Amino acid sequence: MATFKELGLEDNLLQAISDMGFETPSDVQEKTIPILLQKETDIVSLAQTGTGKTAAFGFPMLQKIQIESRTTQGLILSPTRELCLQITKEIESYGKHKKGLNVVAVYGGASISDQARQIKKGAQIIVATPGRMKDMIGRGMIDISKIEYCVLDEADEMLNMGFYEDITEILSHSPKDKSTWLFSATMPKDVAKIAKKFMHSPVEITVGSRNVGTENVSHEYYLVNARDRYLALKRLADANPDIFSVVFCRTKRDTQKVAEKLIEDGYNAAAIHGDLSQNQRDLVMKSFRTRQIQMLVATDVAARGIDVDDITHVINYQLPDEIETYTHRSGRTGRAGKSGVSIVIVSKSELRKIKSIEKIIQRNFTKKEVPSGMEICE
Ligand code: ADP
Ligand code: MG
Repeated sequence: MATFKELGLEDNLLQAISDMGFETPSDVQEKTIPILLQKETDIVSLAQTGTGKTAAFGFPMLQKIQIESRTTQGLILSPTRELCLQITKEIESYGKHKKGLNVVAVYGGASISDQARQIKKGAQIIVATPGRMKDMIGRGMIDISKIEYCVLDEADEMLNMGFYEDITEILSHSPKDKSTWLFSATMPKDVAKIAKKFMHSPVEITVGSRNVGTENVSHEYYLVNARDRYLALKRLADANPDIFSVVFCRTKRDTQKVAEKLIEDGYNAAAIHGDLSQNQRDLVMKSFRTRQIQMLVATDVAARGIDVDDITHVINYQLPDEIETYTHRSGRTGRAGKSGVSIVIVSKSELRKIKSIEKIIQRNFTKKEVPSGMEICE
């Protein structure tokens, strides 16, 4: 696996990466960043949600723009106001060691004159939703005639939301020889159409989650009453004394709570989530790698940087909001030819989700019974 340095990123970005606590590049970052750094090219990059696409385009864009110039050189179009703000924040923290960087978010539902004023000060990068962007270009408040890089982020979502016309209109004001970087989770007809219309022989990258762990991982679910979730987890741990496991929770709070209970009950457990300091995270990871910790309770985001072999069980204490995330979770076990088990603890109301996951992973779950207390005592 490559390091961020090996991808060709410059020092100030590597510094920001280390500040943020990213340990290794994600698949989409490893595949996309070197290409975008090395040449001026269009690219179509397909990867599921949560795979780190923002950094995959954010780092190369930051490395390529002229920071001394105040001309708008990069435009990032994204479907919603929330994403727009989130991307802006991410890019700002990636670029925090770049003096003079100005990133402006342009989106509906906020003062247009405030946004125009910010842009007038000179923004090298604009992150925008299509509706407001089109509006501001129409009013002469934004000039994108000199942009060199245009990102269409979550292209499938933008088209689902009916932004085709707006995107077409916006791009007609941009130079023909810019590079267009399209990111999408899926490639429906509309996205292919956009790619064909606006891009010149793009490099195509797909980050497969489809066959993650399908060979060596068995998928099991345990049906429990919602209030017995924790009890089921304990029983599973008792029944597998050599367990070496990542336990996924949905929120930082639940992650912390479950880990604390496990520790109280005498298990070798620890939590890892975004509220811990880098130092704390490093310590936790070290104890996990050296097997002092057998059960690492984690949020999806915190687990992303984790690269530990020989994990025996991935436990979905709670299912993720996005079922696609399940493939990323289960892919943490069954690596390098070893076998692994991916377990879901579900309540009755969530059984539907198991069916949807089966469709995505194209594998069936085995229904299991939670080992009873008696069996374990015997
Ligand atoms: P996507 O756009 O593919 O849905 P994001 O770019 O929003 O994914 O990234 C999801 C989360 O993962 C963000 O919180 C981001 O800070 C974090 N992240 C991105 N790359 C890495 C990495 N290499 N290591 C650890 N965390 C990462
Ligand atoms: Mg994204």
